[in-house]
Amino acid sequence: MTQAGTFEQLWSEIAGIGRDPTTGGYRRFAWTEADLSMREWFSGQCAARGLDLIEDRMGNQWAWWGDPDRSTTGGIATGSHLDSVPDGGAFDGPLGVVSGLLAIDRLRSNGYAPRRPIAVVNFVDEEGARFGVSCAGSRVITGALSADRARALRDADGVTMAEAMRAAGRQPDQLGPDPDALARVGAFVELHVEQGRDLIDRGRAVGVGSRLWAHGRWRIEIPGEANHAGTTRLSDRRDAVIECARAVIVTRAAAEAYGSLATIGKISIQPGGVNAIASSATAWLDARADDEPALRATVAQIEEEVGSSGAVMTEESRTPQTPFDDVLVSRLAGLLDGAPVMSTGAGHDAGILANAGVLAAMIFVRNPTGVSHSPAERAEPEDCLAGVAALATVLADLAGAEQ
Ligand SMILES: [Zn+2]
Repeated sequence: MTQAGTFEQLWSEIAGIGRDPTTGGYRRFAWTEADLSMREWFSGQCAARGLDLIEDRMGNQWAWWGDPDRSTTGGIATGSHLDSVPDGGAFDGPLGVVSGLLAIDRLRSNGYAPRRPIAVVNFVDEEGARFGVSCAGSRVITGALSADRARALRDADGVTMAEAMRAAGRQPDQLGPDPDALARVGAFVELHVEQGRDLIDRGRAVGVGSRLWAHGRWRIEIPGEANHAGTTRLSDRRDAVIECARAVIVTRAAAEAYGSLATIGKISIQPGGVNAIASSATAWLDARADDEPALRATVAQIEEEVGSSGAVMTEESRTPQTPFDDVLVSRLAGLLDGAPVMSTGAGHDAGILANAGVLAAMIFVRNPTGVSHSPAERAEPEDCLAGVAALATVLADLAGAEQ
């Protein structure tokens, strides 16, 4: 089968998993049935290729070509994640995993034998859609998220991560830093669909990621006072929704003031009755900036403004600006015909690994809509193949050839 045929085949195997037929978006949340189906599909693909699958202490799936424990310098890993945001697109995550598998196929069909082992990884819970902390899979194994905190995270139904993992047949008591898993990784190159329009403007199919912006998530608890919508005078109201709306507006203003990005994309209103004045509201803030001072200033301004009405802001997760290794980035750009080098406001497991001292970089594949975290997210088939080819080139270079 041609590489294009194989790509289409792999893609069609997962196209229906966790897809909402109404919106066309994906709902593949960590440790749910859809996620487990994706994991099973991945392990089947790895078995079909004779790759050795190792689950680390968090349940990230590492499929190795060659024995990483026999390499003193560690292997070369690629891959991404198979979970999604609510109503996510098809490419964010899966493109990196599928491209990793196909890059291995391509290298093998060229008769290439790697000197260092090569892995494809599926990181669990990258989006944090269910438990609220992004990149939970890589954060736990690097120690950036403590096992106790991870186990206690709750989803919207009150189910803890520990309970969800146990229901999926995992042992949450094993959660924790996994230096053995990390020691196997000499370098990590994550391929990802671009979440923006840079590559369209530059007329290139692939680019190289140079750094991730500083970013984080905050929870804003907004107090109010429950009362009757039909009998309470406007002047007597303490309406949490009004303050919540103000929080949304001040968030936008702060982002504009500091050249950052700040978004409130999730709100919960209590008690949530049409004829009841809200007793409280919770809003979740996502804020990002290319540098730390801009992020700090943005968040401080929002905190000050919402604090003036009694709201309390709590940091849920925070990742500093993450530069990828300069030498590795230049090497990739050189290997890929002078591919453009770009920073991104999106967070990725590659960033968490880089912060833990792993040599890491990223390859982006052009997205003709520029839209991501939506069913409109896309990548053209020929660009996907260009991504696979780029990844194969990079893996072969980094892993070296057996003499
Ligand atoms: Zn992603």
